[in-house]
Amino acid sequence: MNTIILDAGKKENIMLCAEAIKSGNLVAIPTETVYGLGANALNEKAVSAIFATKGRQADNPLIVHVASPSDAKPLVSSVPPCFDMIVDMFWPGPLTLVMKKSAIIPSIVSAGLDTVAIRVPNHPAALALIRSSGCPIAAPSANLSGSPSPTKAVHVNNDIGGKIKYILDGGDCKVGVESTVLDISDGTLRILRPGGVTLGEIKKLLQTVELDDGTSSSVRSPGMKYRHYATKAPIKALLGSPSETAEYIKRNINGNTAALMFDDFSFNHPNIVTFGASEDHVAQASKLFDALRELDSMDVSAIFAQIPKEDGLGMAVANRIRKAASGKIISLVFCPGTG
Ligand code: AMP
Ligand code: MG
Repeated sequence: MNTIILDAGKKENIMLCAEAIKSGNLVAIPTETVYGLGANALNEKAVSAIFATKGRQADNPLIVHVASPSDAKPLVSSVPPCFDMIVDMFWPGPLTLVMKKSAIIPSIVSAGLDTVAIRVPNHPAALALIRSSGCPIAAPSANLSGSPSPTKAVHVNNDIGGKIKYILDGGDCKVGVESTVLDISDGTLRILRPGGVTLGEIKKLLQTVELDDGTSSSVRSPGMKYRHYATKAPIKALLGSPSETAEYIKRNINGNTAALMFDDFSFNHPNIVTFGASEDHVAQASKLFDALRELDSMDVSAIFAQIPKEDGLGMAVANRIRKAASGKIISLVFCPGTG
């Protein structure tokens, strides 16, 4: 199939893609988080094509995108009491809410769970497409499963070009990491995945939110157990102060290794890719996946990575780097009394 990249700023392109969605086809969509691979969420056959195109495991449920909070209500069997307060604050935006699903959500979307994940994206082209399609749009990230999420139309084309008809090019994704997933389906509010809305922002509104420690994530958020953001060469994430980890990289980098580094701690070496200053978590989030793809294009046997402090958006950035490293963490933290 010939994949056509369309300017998302043009109304006729939105209409063309809306027709494609209505007739059961897939469209890659820009959002403020990452590009999504969208299909009519109420059309089982179209949704199954999402799983096939990405190579996504069937037990990993999809996020359903709607244009307004009122459009979310028919998709859930009961609206939790905190819903209005949360969506007034965070929608449209990078916060996904997990709630008990209604019967109109096909079980392929929720991977057999009795809940559904929903959000209103904050991107004019995504909202225009949902409205013009007249249906909720199920959309996971538009990458091949396991590879870094796409934050530019060219990333989508590199991964799944030739497999879908249209990519709506809405420019670079502003946030750059996926949405925060917040489960409000029972009495306890739990963050299942850190993302574009920070724990601090949620805590300002809801004092009682828990951060899922991941031990039961196989049940609560199936997607969290899979390898994500993998590069061909293994990533070795470095735990320690930025100056300690930069020193380590200086001692160990060579022609056969590469590094992901903060702007303010990097040095002159052809295999270093930077992703923002050490304290600038907003820049790190927006540059991370593009940086991982650039590192992946290098012919190296290992990639060292600095990890930001886990405050604010740094929590989501650190979570993605740890996942990319699939647990391979080198700790440089000095423990007094152990030497
Ligand atoms: P992606 O679409 O690739 O950004 O991944 C969506 C994330 O949301 C995955 O981690 C899923 O496991 C999670 N998710 C989607 N639906 C649900 C649900 N009903 N319950 C819990 N987690 C969900
Ligand atoms: Mg994904």
